[in-house]
Formats: sequence, structure tokens, C-alpha cells
Amino acid sequence: MKTVVLKFGGTSVGSIDRIKKVCKIISSYKKKKYKVVVISSAMSGVTNDLVNKSKSICNNFDLAEYDALVSTGEQVSCALIAGRLKHIGLKSRSWLSWQLPIFTEGNYSSARINKINIKELNIYIKSGGVPVVTGFQGINKNFRITTIGRSGSDATAIMLAKYIKADECIIYTDVEGVYTTDPRQHKKAKKIKKIFYDEMLEMASLGSKVMQPTSIQDAKLNKIDIKVRSSFAFKSGTLITNSKKSFSDQIITGISSTKNDAKITIVGVKDRPGVAASIFKPLSKNLINVDMVIQNISQNGKNTDLTFTIKSEDLKKTEKLIKENKSISYKKLSFDKNVSKVSIIGVGMITTPGITYRMFQALAAKKINILVISTSEIKISVLVSAKHVKKAIASLHKEFKLD
Ligand code: ADP
Ligand code: ASP
Ligand code: MG
Repeated sequence: MKTVVLKFGGTSVGSIDRIKKVCKIISSYKKKKYKVVVISSAMSGVTNDLVNKSKSICNNFDLAEYDALVSTGEQVSCALIAGRLKHIGLKSRSWLSWQLPIFTEGNYSSARINKINIKELNIYIKSGGVPVVTGFQGINKNFRITTIGRSGSDATAIMLAKYIKADECIIYTDVEGVYTTDPRQHKKAKKIKKIFYDEMLEMASLGSKVMQPTSIQDAKLNKIDIKVRSSFAFKSGTLITNSKKSFSDQIITGISSTKNDAKITIVGVKDRPGVAASIFKPLSKNLINVDMVIQNISQNGKNTDLTFTIKSEDLKKTEKLIKENKSISYKKLSFDKNVSKVSIIGVGMITTPGITYRMFQALAAKKINILVISTSEIKISVLVSAKHVKKAIASLHKEFKLD
């Protein structure tokens, strides 16, 4: 008898009607004699609402209470699913993560699952029951509730699949699978049949919301193949894997873009060893993640300009830290919140020369100015004005024959 982990995202359980439909999917696996474990996200909009409540009660809401608060959405959806499954004749119960427990380590709101106690779960599955487990959360060594980052139910599903040694892990969502780019942003996006972990990890980290990046790291580390498919339509989905069997020969697999980047330029900083370190030290101490960086070559050997990007939500804090930084001097500080990072991703670029040129040429043909560039072995990212993102994606999608 095969064991399958089925994860349902927020939109998939977004209404009572949707929950009834999801229960039909779960029941179809039971009919095919699978042992089934269900992971659910909160109903769509619920977690955002809880986050807003924490912000409106005070501007420095306690982090431990934040996790206790925002984890509650999953309790509702899991109880509703389990209740409905019982109604249609299946044996089922909900499990809050602390009841197993799912252990985590690391900071509140960005903890990571490091162990899951599956004893009770296994007994229940063997007895024919369908456990419905809350995604996105666990407990730490002080037995306080933790959450594992937004969209974290993906990681819960993958880690549970690892611990119960599931044969399959299926992520049910509101699109038919992973597409060449966000299908809601570009109509010509095509569903990808198979994608390597490394490509999916880059796509997820570079803004493709369909999978949470940590979950892909966990899947890669534990060699767990993931199927992404729709809970709305019965269609074949996408396989995320390391297996090299029957991959297409596309050079570029996908295109991602971000929404909330900000660019900072420090004009006329002293060009001497250690200056970049002096600028970035306080940012790193305050957990501000610096992404793309360029430093202009100094014309006179004395002064230079440094440009870097951060998340827009960190902009105010970053501005304050730079202004308070006594170890640097500069002429001017400028900010741009209306920028986005557009990236092309594909393992094919390792063996194919000329990809950078083709990307820049395609953007130039559309008169899109590139502000910053960063590359890795399997991706090229450019920072462009946010108003050009749609046009940039369309032209790159066409250039790399993804249409
Ligand atoms: P869930 O609630 O099921 O976890 P998410 O909202 O987290 O769903 O992820 C699904 C969404 O991801 C889709 O609705 C789609 O707009 C977006 N998305 C972004 N990039 C991609 C992509 N490359 N392929 C598919 N979906 C994408
Ligand atoms: N409900 C959580 C969120 O909205 C976790 C998840 O959806 O996976 O981020
Ligand atoms: Mg998601």
C-alpha cells in the first residue's frame, strides 16, 4: 500500500465549497487504497488578516505571540477538512503541529523543521485514518509555537513526506503546475512537465511564488520528488526532481520576477579597502538582506558610487542605519522603490554560450534599461524599473522560445 502526502494551499481551501471539493480529492486516494496524510494551509486571506491584526495592536508586536497568532488559521481549515471527511464516511482527525509534535529550530516566524514525531500518526494511518496536519508551524525547545516563514506549509508537507517515508508528495494549488513564468502575469506561460530542484529553487527564490524556497531545499536534501498540480482541474502537473529522465532540451526553463525590491545608491563614498564592509556590517547585524551589489570604478581613485538592493520593507531601517553610520562618509544617498528583479533560469545555460548577450539584446530592443546585473551558474538577474517588468518578461519569454 502506497503512502501519499497531499498538501492543499490557501485558495484550495478558501471556502466551504472548496473544502468539500478538496475532500473529494482526498477520498479518491483512499478509494485507490492509498494511505493518506493531509497538510493544509489556512483558508486564503486568513493569515494576512492575522498579520494585519498584529500590526494594528502595536508596532513592535512580540515575536513569540506573533507566531502563536498567525498559526491559528491552519487550525480552522484542518478541523473543517477532518470534519467533512468524517461526514463523507472516512475516518479522520485534525492534528495541530504541537500535538505531534513538529519540532523546529531558529527564530520565530522563520524557524525550520528539524524533527517530526510520527509515532501516533503512523498508528492512526495504519488503522485507516486520514490525519489532517496543520502546515506552516511547529514548536521550539521551549515548547512555544513557531512558524516557518510565509507559504511554509509546502515545507511541512515535504518534511512530513520525509519522516513518514511517503511514496509521493503532491502539492495541490490554484494553478496546474509550475509554469515558464507566472501564468497570471503572462498569458503565454506554458506548464513545465519536469523541472530540476536547482532550477525550481532559483525560480522560487527569485519570486515564483508557486513553491516556497525552503521547501525545495528540503526536498533536494532529502531527495523527495514533488508533484505540483491543481485542486481545481484534473490535469497533469509538474514534477520537481533530480532525475534526468526525459527532460526537454530548453536552455532556459523559466522566468521569475520580484515585486518588492528597493535600490539604494551611495554616491561619492571614499574608495578605500573595507568601505563596503563598513556599510554592510550594520545591515547584516540588523538582519537586512543585501541582494545585488555594484560598485563603480572610481574615476579619481578617491571616490566611488555603491549601489545595492534590499527588500522594500527594509528601506526605512536601512536609510536610518546608513545615516547613523559614523564610519563612512559620502556625498549623497538616493533610493528607488520602483524597481524589480527579472531573472532567467535554466541549467542549459551552463553549456550554452551567448545567453547573457541574448538577454541584454532582447531587453535593449524593447528599450528597457538594466540597472544592476547578477549571475550564477544557472541564472541571470537584471534589475529594471518596475514599470518595465511585464514587457521584459514578454520579450525574454519569446527570445528563449518559451511562448
Ligand atoms: P497556494 O495557496 O496553493 O500555496 P500560492 O499562491 O502560494 O498557492 O502559489 C500559487 C500561485 O503562484 C499561482 O496562483 C501563481 O499566480 C503564482 N506563480 C508565480 N510564479 C509561478 C510559476 N512560475 N508557475 C506557476 N505559478 C506561479
Ligand atoms: N497560511 C500560511 C501563509 O499564508 C502558510 C501557507 O499558506 O503555507 O503564509
Ligand atoms: Mg504557497
